[in-house]
Amino acid sequence: MQTSVTPTHCPYCALQCGMNLTPEPAGGVTVVERPDFPVNRGALCGKGRTAPAVLSSHVRLTSPLVRSGGTLVPATWDEALDRIAEGLRRTRTEHGPDACGVFGGGGLTNEKAYTLGKFARIVLGTSQIDYNGRFCMSSAAAGGIKAFGLDRGLPFPLEDIPKTGCVLLVGSNLAETMPPALRYLTELKENGGRLIVVDPRRTRTAEQADLHLAPRPGTDLALALGLLHLIVAEGRTDEAYIRERTSGWEEARAAAMAHWPEYVERITGVSVPELREAVRLFCEPEAAMVLTARGPEQQSKGTDTVSAWINLSLATGRPGRPLSGYGCLTGQGNGQGGREHGQKADQLPGYRKLTDPEARRHVAEVWGVDPDSLPGPGRSAYELLDALGTDIRSLLLMASNPVVSAPRAAHVEERIRSLDFLAVCDVVLSETAELADVVLPVTQWAEETGTTTNLEGRVLLRRRAITPPEGVRSDLHVMHELAARLGVEKGFPTDPEEVFEELRRASAGGPADYSGITYGRLAAENGVFWPCPADSPADGPADVPEGASLGAPHDGPNGEPTDTAVHPGTPRLFLDRFATEDGRARFVPVSHRAIAEEPDDEYPVLLTTGRVVAQYQSGAQTRRVDELNAAAPGPFVELHPRLAERLGAAEGDPVAVVSRRGRAVAPARITNAIRPDTVFMPFHWPGEGRANTLTNPALDPTSRMPEFKACAVRVEAVNAV
Ligand code: SF4
Repeated sequence: MQTSVTPTHCPYCALQCGMNLTPEPAGGVTVVERPDFPVNRGALCGKGRTAPAVLSSHVRLTSPLVRSGGTLVPATWDEALDRIAEGLRRTRTEHGPDACGVFGGGGLTNEKAYTLGKFARIVLGTSQIDYNGRFCMSSAAAGGIKAFGLDRGLPFPLEDIPKTGCVLLVGSNLAETMPPALRYLTELKENGGRLIVVDPRRTRTAEQADLHLAPRPGTDLALALGLLHLIVAEGRTDEAYIRERTSGWEEARAAAMAHWPEYVERITGVSVPELREAVRLFCEPEAAMVLTARGPEQQSKGTDTVSAWINLSLATGRPGRPLSGYGCLTGQGNGQGGREHGQKADQLPGYRKLTDPEARRHVAEVWGVDPDSLPGPGRSAYELLDALGTDIRSLLLMASNPVVSAPRAAHVEERIRSLDFLAVCDVVLSETAELADVVLPVTQWAEETGTTTNLEGRVLLRRRAITPPEGVRSDLHVMHELAARLGVEKGFPTDPEEVFEELRRASAGGPADYSGITYGRLAAENGVFWPCPADSPADGPADVPEGASLGAPHDGPNGEPTDTAVHPGTPRLFLDRFATEDGRARFVPVSHRAIAEEPDDEYPVLLTTGRVVAQYQSGAQTRRVDELNAAAPGPFVELHPRLAERLGAAEGDPVAVVSRRGRAVAPARITNAIRPDTVFMPFHWPGEGRANTLTNPALDPTSRMPEFKACAVRVEAVNAV
């Protein structure tokens, strides 16, 4: 057992709060404040404070399990690994490499995500790899790349938020999803800045706003267009900025001018005076930010919706200026790093495109393989899950629980059950792991070292603080053993730092360049922002990816300047130019269109889904923590008093929500905080109250993001005929 305090980071959301772990005499660790880490300055939410509970052997797996006679029974590691290798080998032989699927997670460290992509492409030779981050932020990533040529969730540090003049926060309830971040908005208001929140619900975040706009779910694309229309009509555009730093304005302007405020009011339910007030608050200050999260992104037009919000930001001259711009609040712990290093269907490490011949050559050289042997892009997450049991016969799944978190979850569950072979690596026996042929118990955050990249693009070091229980091994060990069994003579590296050194080389020269980041630097500094090329800026700016400004060096742990011989990292992007070929940001002309499934006589109400403060994602970990379960014991249906009255439902009565994909039942929670035409369900629970039984897998054509945020349902009092 280690005896000293270990500084590390929370295992859950993308804020990646810093925390110190102190050893307990009886084993285990306690979380204590780590005030020196600037992102959260010691503050933690309940999930972070209670995270050590999941380290306990009472709630987690400590032995491999294999299916025998229909049930999962304990097995040795060799038996379990042999069985996985045999299952994958048989599928590959009988059906070809693309019949093997790999599904990852936004909770995997950079080292694991990198190794998983490498394992899929050079050991299995499959193109069929994607991860649950596709369900999280892929529309913002696509929108950011279209406009700026680069996707880094926030192109500026969180510390800039309180210093701006106005924040337009779209579809984010960060008071519940990442509570310590709320202080940035509180400080903004204390400094005289304004906060506009766009959300169909009056959430705890919306309650902080100077102005809350509550559009009908799935209509904020129209809302953004209506605001841009007014910005143009009121002469509030920044013409010099548009002329000097952007392209494509005329087409985007014409599209916005077709969306008259009165038309937008009819679509969204947001009144013209509210639109005018939002424009005034947003345009009056010199600096302002648009921040989006899952609300605009989890739509079948999520990429266009993000583009509409970026257009608004560009038209007012904000991106690439100090204390201004557009950013996405990524959700999962390593949602940012997880999409940069190769577990995404269309990406290679360093956020390179899998279809780019030069990128393939570079990464293949690091991997010691022929570039032509690398498969091309595969299916996106939902499409991959939908192909299980047909085109894809075996699946290796890490750090994800799609039985609860995927859209149209009953169908996904049925597809998973139809597989020839399923192997799951997880900390706990999740609802998906329960269906597996083999389950491997793996190490978790406090038991292993590795890096994550938070929502700011700040690469961080999580440190091992505790010895894992007997019987548990790391995901890197699993991939090493499987690679060795499937023909890679020496297997793969299992030491995280050795993997990171390889990742540095693989990412060098790519958009997400980590080559100047080392474990030593991460241990000495409070994270390093990418891009961070290996060469010093003094060696020439050509080593900095096109469009990336160097920004200011960040300070060492005691406030001293960091070594100027190394690249300081890039806290702020785009200050000089954008990462497009011509250095200009691109307007993308977009128009309003309806959600994939509009309400009708049979399904007259809209369902929107989201999260609550005491649970995380599919709840696989947090549902096993007593304190969190006491705070959020189960699902609920939030509905307006008028709808409740029509149903004859009182607070706490069970109500059924029915969509074209299934039925979910949960207690009514009656509140004026939601629109009368909309109900809300959190998605953290399996079983009868599983919200994702209802959700629509209609996909965005660019990002392949499912439409979690809006579908047509009817609501019934339970026992109604
Ligand atoms: Fe911080 Fe997120 Fe962890 Fe809560 S869950 S402590 S907000 S990183």
